[in-house]
Amino acid sequence: MPGVVDRVVIVTGAGGGLGREYARLLAAEGALVVVNDLGSNRDGTGSGTAMADSVVGEIRAMGGRAVANYDSVATAAGAAAVVATALAEFGAVHGIVNNAGILRDGSFAKMTEENWDAVVRVHLFGAYHVTHAAWGHFREQGYGRVVMATSTTGLYGTFGQANYGAAKLGLVGLMNTLAIEGREYDITVNAVAPLAATRMTAEAPADLLQNLPPAHVAPVVGFLLSEECEDTGMVLIVGGGTVQRVQLFAGKPVLYPEVPTIEEVRENWNRITDMSDAEPGANPVG
Ligand code: NAD
Repeated sequence: MPGVVDRVVIVTGAGGGLGREYARLLAAEGALVVVNDLGSNRDGTGSGTAMADSVVGEIRAMGGRAVANYDSVATAAGAAAVVATALAEFGAVHGIVNNAGILRDGSFAKMTEENWDAVVRVHLFGAYHVTHAAWGHFREQGYGRVVMATSTTGLYGTFGQANYGAAKLGLVGLMNTLAIEGREYDITVNAVAPLAATRMTAEAPADLLQNLPPAHVAPVVGFLLSEECEDTGMVLIVGGGTVQRVQLFAGKPVLYPEVPTIEEVRENWNRITDMSDAEPGANPVG
């Protein structure tokens, strides 16, 4: 099976945590991996080459093929340099895991514009920049595989993570449209919401973390990047030995032939919010 053999895959934020697991597994399966990492702290401050270099060293030591890149995905120039590294070193780009991420938690009442901006720039703008820089190559070669790192925080919400949740569900919105636009070029775009013990989740309860080794997430990402996986636009929660698809469902529409009064909306509120006959949702204007 071709899988990811000889495919050039960019993994952003691959200097530690989940990205490192993705990069190692992909390389072990025969991919040529661009190990991108800014080498920042958990909050996005600082930078360095050691994190990406160390993962490239691990991959090469096990006989795999990898190259390091230290640019920030948060800017168009940085993302262009990530894709340029893939092209210069391996001559192509076939896949991207938009995995780089930071945290700046705080209740919404205390959310500063700086912390909002920093998180949205790395997660959402980062995925936009890197995917956009590779998109033309995907279209020209008629092939591309993209995985977005979303989060249960984006899907369901978590206290203190308004910036992070907005960015993470933004990635699902980006995925939905790219899945449509990519279809005719064999470009698939899917999203994984991982659950894993990394420095990002270091403050979670220890008994929870011990059941969440990041290695559990990597095979699903590996499958989504493979030639055999032609599904697109899917969201999967993955971690601790479970893989679960998540999808938006829509309740039965309540019809109002005439413009209703507020009172008529109130009267039907239980029916409007009833999800017992819900079915997979679809864009009525798409
Ligand atoms: P992590 O902190 O170990 O990994 C994130 C990596 O991204 C770090 O190595 C960091 O240096 C790098 N990075 C940060 N800013 C960057 C930038 N501008 N350009 C390039 N690299 C940058 O955390 P992780 O848990 O491995 O997270 C990986 C991804 O998975 C993130 O997108 C995170 O939001 C997502 N995620 C993780 C969990 C979990 O349970 N660990 C849950 C949901 C989502």
